[in-house]
Amino acid sequence: MAKSKNTLKLKFDSARNLDPAPESAAIAKIADRYELFINGKFEKPSSKKYFDTINPATEEKLSSIALANKADVDKAVVAARNAYDKVWKKLPAKERAKYIFRISRIIQEKARELAVIETLDGGKPIKESRDFDIPAAANHFFYNAGWADKLEYAFPNRNPKPLGVAGQIIPWNFPLLMAAWKIAPALATGNTVVLKPAENTSLTALKLAEIFQEADLPPGVVNIITGAGNTGAELVNHPGINKIAFTGSTEVGKIIQKSIAGTNKKATLELGGKAANIIFEDAPIDQAVEGIINGIFFNQGHVCCAGSRLFVQESVYKLVLQKLKDRIETLIVGNPMDKNTDIGAINSKQQLDVINNYLKIGQQEGSEIFQSSCALPKKGFYCKPTIFTNVAQSHRIAQEEIFGPVLAIQTFRTIDEAIEKANNTAFGLSAGVWTDKGSKIFNMTSKLRAGVIWANTYNKFDPTSPFGGYKESGFGREGGLHGLGGYVEV
Ligand code: NAP
Ligand code: MG
Repeated sequence: MAKSKNTLKLKFDSARNLDPAPESAAIAKIADRYELFINGKFEKPSSKKYFDTINPATEEKLSSIALANKADVDKAVVAARNAYDKVWKKLPAKERAKYIFRISRIIQEKARELAVIETLDGGKPIKESRDFDIPAAANHFFYNAGWADKLEYAFPNRNPKPLGVAGQIIPWNFPLLMAAWKIAPALATGNTVVLKPAENTSLTALKLAEIFQEADLPPGVVNIITGAGNTGAELVNHPGINKIAFTGSTEVGKIIQKSIAGTNKKATLELGGKAANIIFEDAPIDQAVEGIINGIFFNQGHVCCAGSRLFVQESVYKLVLQKLKDRIETLIVGNPMDKNTDIGAINSKQQLDVINNYLKIGQQEGSEIFQSSCALPKKGFYCKPTIFTNVAQSHRIAQEEIFGPVLAIQTFRTIDEAIEKANNTAFGLSAGVWTDKGSKIFNMTSKLRAGVIWANTYNKFDPTSPFGGYKESGFGREGGLHGLGGYVEV
């Protein structure tokens, strides 16, 4: 026993003592200031106001970003409407496809720079922006480009027609990927777009605007209006918008739903989550532990479908818990630009405060906390990977979305108990099932109230698969054929 502990200690030390392997920040060309992208050009905001975007890993300012007010939003919507009426809806579908393919190709060409900017602006580890965010963004454009001239096959005998101008609002956790996820299907189906990125992470959306210029996308087909505070609401309330596509918090999703009630605006809302991962005693335990770790610590837990609740069958609870604790000790937390880093910076001070508050609440509610013994950088916003045990169903840490690297663990004895506990939440975005038995997987997937259910894996995405939630996780689907359906009238 003593020997195996020593071996483990050696393993932790060697993981943490890897030589630094930083990606070069010099690859990123970031201007001192960014204007609004309206009608194919970068334009000064009529608000005359700018706000800072910072690197959450160092708290240093990266750039100034234009703040769009009501007049700017109006200008962008008018540009999108003109582009829709005069150019985009008249263009043969295969010509639309060529632009979208071109955008995908340029994203691939600039992948390294985009990954660096994503990491500098948002705090996520470079290995994630490099290996997941940017390639997935390019894939979404590529996949949707392929559909542009095949919509009659996608919706046979239903005469699909575009909706018009789409207003799209995205969060800070996957900035470029969310932009691609929203813009690509809208363009493929013949709509034009006004997109508002999140206040903390506008940079890659503005780089995408430069890519649209390079791809010669006709002016006004996509407009990017940055802002903080009211900009999103102004877009939602603009009468010239035909469709709102929103990804963000359930709280803002509800506000949007109220403000478009009684209008002709269509909507898809992708909101919060509180996903359950369920491990049965017959599961491949090492693989499951790795999947749980990936499911909650990937991207600092800033993932709407993060596996933030874990249900372990009682007979394997001790084993799973020990393996999770051992694995957490090996995770490398720190500089997101280092290629070895597993957990980067929390996206903002505000989000770190939210997470730290939940760490307090969990302990006050009587749960037991376990955190990695790693040291955190002095500057920047960081949180240690954390697990809570002794969690009750009624605890806030088991019910509310924390959106950080925090896992709440509970146990169960029977399948029915696992299903009941997993479904006992206001959300229903995703879930994971770990078992050796195919029949158990099918039984669970038909009873869990979640939009996406992974079996013996977690957080796997593909542009061909629809994604979306039940209950307070929203409605409508994005990705795949279902995603195109949100942008056409049939
Ligand atoms: P958020 O506060 O809802 O913000 C999302 C976006 O909405 C931002 O661009 C924000 O702009 C804008 N916004 C804020 N108030 C608005 C209003 N009244 N009207 C219109 N737009 C408004 O969410 P967040 O904190 O950025 O992101 C975290 C949340 O997103 C989590 O709850 C997470 O679960 C959810 N999420 C869901 C999915 C999914 O697919 N289901 C994916 C990713 C994230 P500002 O930045 O200027 O405030
Ligand atoms: Mg930033």
